[in-house]
Amino acid sequence: MPLLQNKNIPPVKKLTKYKILTIYCKCGEKLLKYKKGPGRRLLKIHRDRITEDFTGIFINDYSEKGTDIYCRSCNERIATVQIVNGKYVNKVNQGQLGITK
Ligand SMILES: [Zn+2]
Repeated sequence: MPLLQNKNIPPVKKLTKYKILTIYCKCGEKLLKYKKGPGRRLLKIHRDRITEDFTGIFINDYSEKGTDIYCRSCNERIATVQIVNGKYVNKVNQGQLGITK
């Protein structure tokens, strides 16, 4: 006997699951609340996924591509501005980041 199919049920879409992480500089400065997608490490910060910018150095920054972003507390480079498809994306300096879940 064939299975009945309910046509009112839309096909299951795979939704990207984000985890909200609080991101710190290595020095302990609280930087961001960020919705991170699945995957290993945080390599890039997409601005539309920032839920809170504690220092304002990311979300309010519209510097030219290639500009470095420094921690306000320890003055180390945290990220570099990149523009991907017209959107601001910050490429993370892995060595300067401490991530807390
Ligand atoms: Zn710092």
